[in-house]
Amino acid sequence: MQPISYTRPRSIDDAIAAHARAGNGARYIAGGTNLYDLMKLNIERPSALIDVTAIDGLDAIDTAGETLRFGANARMSDVMTDPVVENEYPVLSEALWKAASQQLRNMAAVGANLLQRTRCMYFRNGYGGASGGSAEYPCNKRVPGSGCAAIGGLDRGQAVLGVSEACNAVSPGDWPVALVAMDARVEIAGPAGRRSIPVADLYRLPGDTPHIEFTIERGEIIVGIVVPRTRAGMRSTYHKIRDRESFAFALASAAVALEMTDNRIDAARIALGGVATRPWRAGGAEAVLAGQELTEDLALAAGRAAFEGATPGRSNGFKVELGARTVADAIMIAARRTP
Ligand SMILES: Cc1cc2nc3c(=O)[nH]c(=O)nc-3n(C[C@H](O)[C@H](O)[C@H](O)COP(=O)(O)OP(=O)(O)OC[C@H]3O[C@@H](n4cnc5c(N)ncnc54)[C@H](O)[C@@H]3O)c2cc1C
Repeated sequence: MQPISYTRPRSIDDAIAAHARAGNGARYIAGGTNLYDLMKLNIERPSALIDVTAIDGLDAIDTAGETLRFGANARMSDVMTDPVVENEYPVLSEALWKAASQQLRNMAAVGANLLQRTRCMYFRNGYGGASGGSAEYPCNKRVPGSGCAAIGGLDRGQAVLGVSEACNAVSPGDWPVALVAMDARVEIAGPAGRRSIPVADLYRLPGDTPHIEFTIERGEIIVGIVVPRTRAGMRSTYHKIRDRESFAFALASAAVALEMTDNRIDAARIALGGVATRPWRAGGAEAVLAGQELTEDLALAAGRAAFEGATPGRSNGFKVELGARTVADAIMIAARRTP
């Protein structure tokens, strides 16, 4: 039994102060759908939970201004049904409603969603579960330096892009993929003040330190997410392929947003999920499309470009072809949407 303290501050400053007082074992908690899960698996063992759900104004959604702004505590279900998000930025709405289940989306916060941890089965199941016990499978993310059972193991769900010799775990979220495609930024507050970084920069490649997944510093709290307005929003989609059509993580997904004049693509934004160790911007695929008349062959060429340099393992090579076709389909879906 491990004692855990619980506080529910009303302001961002109080939350940061509570975190600093509680020290190394402190964790912020929002909906708890990821953190409690990991506590039950004995992967996360916080000594202090700082519940951010009562912080004034942290759940605000503002889609009327020059940018779209989502407070960190806004629920996934509230953001995905916001009329501006639904009608003008389908890529954002679809990334949310294709994630998890309605019950989870009603609990989970869009800020916390950015920090959910991988679903790699060796990471989640190797530690003896709720009863504790010693690690059955090595996992560098869970126990740094212990090795990686997924590399050369059952790797059907693992990443083919951004893989290192220490880790091939997939970055699990759908929402961050859409945000990376839309050049969104995340606002962060902490003991050293406030900063804003591209959502893409929140994520680290595993390299030889896969246990350090995010660039957020200890004690820092996500305050909000800001999405620039763009005419590409209307011609966008989040296309997600999974083992079953609902309540499953992506095998491959693509967030695509296009600026077009008639059938010519002026500019494209493409990001990938389910195939990489972090939300993956596919600049090579974007370059294939820019300035070109759209055809199905061109879309597939862009899809293939997205996977150049992929390094599949024993049984996840299918993701290269599946991913390329997912990108191609997403491009055609987005292009058919009328601004
Ligand atoms: C069965 C199941 C299926 C799922 N399927 C999908 C899916 O298909 N696609 C998908 O994208 N997701 C899926 N999810 C994941 C789900 O979307 C996340 O669990 C959820 O978004 C996390 O939000 P939360 O508010 O519950 O986070 P919490 O569990 O409260 O927190 C998650 C992390 O964020 C930290 N945190 C919380 N708030 C802040 C803050 N403001 N600042 C800094 N750190 C903070 C916590 O310390 C913790 O590390 C699934 C989850 C489950 C359980």
